[in-house]
Amino acid sequence: MLLSKSSIRQYKTCPQSFKFGHIDKLKAAENKLYQKGTDIHELCSDFFGNYIYENGFVSPNFKIPEKYETELGFFLERESKRYQYLMKNDRLDIFEPYLKEKFIRNTKYGIHGIPDRIDKTINNNYVLYEYKTGYVNTRDIAKELGFYLLLMDKIDIKVFKLYEFKKQRVLNIGVNKGIVTEVEKDINNVKDKINNQEFKPVISDNGCFWCGYKAYCEEILKL
Ligand code: SF4
Repeated sequence: MLLSKSSIRQYKTCPQSFKFGHIDKLKAAENKLYQKGTDIHELCSDFFGNYIYENGFVSPNFKIPEKYETELGFFLERESKRYQYLMKNDRLDIFEPYLKEKFIRNTKYGIHGIPDRIDKTINNNYVLYEYKTGYVNTRDIAKELGFYLLLMDKIDIKVFKLYEFKKQRVLNIGVNKGIVTEVEKDINNVKDKINNQEFKPVISDNGCFWCGYKAYCEEILKL
């Protein structure tokens, strides 16, 4: 079984919820909180796929739904200005879109993931972008970058940019080898526990409140 960064997080939060989702293949209850994240990711991807990269300008056809105007307004303005600056100075060759929202698997580490966007620079380096709609914990983010460095170990990612929509800012995150080693250990640790069939529930007010498998747990554990 290949693990994603969200399945690793899920296992670490509650092994039983991981089992419900990934071993028993039970369907989780819908969570409206996640819908916003999905919508914003799709809009960002659409923007680069159809309204900037291919046409070379921001098309007026790109409409932001009113409910996401605040979050996406800052993103659109920033990316449009950057793109227009590069065009004006005939420097579009600095950044070339490499991939966006593409499913990648890496069997060496037993992981898979979907990077939000990667650009290739003129110096053959790569810039990785992540879009975050929720609150950001910089330690968790550094680990996410560590995960992507393992996932994309064939390319040289030099810069990691994080779009934090809630605070309308872009963070440049640094990474060190220590984090990558830590992430690798984490992955192996979770894999060992899964192989040993360790799926104990971790009951917590917050975790259980948001859990999509609560109904199954109520049956089994009488929560
Ligand atoms: S309801 Fe709580 S204990 Fe049950 S699977 Fe979800 S997080 Fe785990």
